[in-house]
Amino acid sequence: MKLTILGSGDAFSSGGRLPSCYALESGDERILIDCGPAILTALKKQGLSGNLYSHIVLSHLHGDHFAGLPFFLIDAMFPAMRTEPLTLVGPPGLELRLRLAFELFYPRLISVKRKFELRFFEIDKEAPVDIAGFSVTAYEVDHFSGSPSYALRFENGEKIFAFSGDSGWTDNLIRAGRGADLYLMECYQYDLDLPMHLTYKRIECESSAIGAKKIMLTHMADEMLAKRNLVDANRFLIADDGMIVHI
Ligand SMILES: [Zn+2]
Ligand SMILES: [Zn+2]
Repeated sequence: MKLTILGSGDAFSSGGRLPSCYALESGDERILIDCGPAILTALKKQGLSGNLYSHIVLSHLHGDHFAGLPFFLIDAMFPAMRTEPLTLVGPPGLELRLRLAFELFYPRLISVKRKFELRFFEIDKEAPVDIAGFSVTAYEVDHFSGSPSYALRFENGEKIFAFSGDSGWTDNLIRAGRGADLYLMECYQYDLDLPMHLTYKRIECESSAIGAKKIMLTHMADEMLAKRNLVDANRFLIADDGMIVHI
């Protein structure tokens, strides 16, 4: 598997980082995970086209994780001239929320005839599904977004990649990332406990229970970024926009 960090930022683009977006590849299969509002900037900065990706899998329906979809779609409809089907994968409520957002941003474009098929696949928690060669399992986490919020586990038969999405601490974060080769975890604060988000101190404390081979920290606020030199570099990686990780 190969992971490209397209956007490692939080909702505020702390540190100038682009909001949440990652690309995951296995063999010829390529998917996006999350689709933050700067998705087109994130892709084009890396010289990538949205047409490379068959699926976009969303952890949850907060703007910093899914508001890029209308932009991704208009790019696919016009300059990128997409012809291959695109499947949007995410929590129940995804299709309605996307249709509402698209209509607000670009009225009537959702019903304009497209040269590609747009599919929706709303996944239930703890029911593994096959997506572009990955077995994907969603675990519900503690993060209000108007729909269930998920941590996601991707397996390709050889390696395991997991992504926490956004969440306050819940033992489901252990289940999602248990034994993963790489676990990408939101690390919003260093030690300031807030509802709905994680701290470095909590991740450090739970890391042996998770048992992931590597944990990579992402979605960091200014306070966490200012303390990144306190992170134990032997145990944790820190995501940066543009970084590529071979899993
Ligand atoms: Zn977020
Ligand atoms: Zn969120």
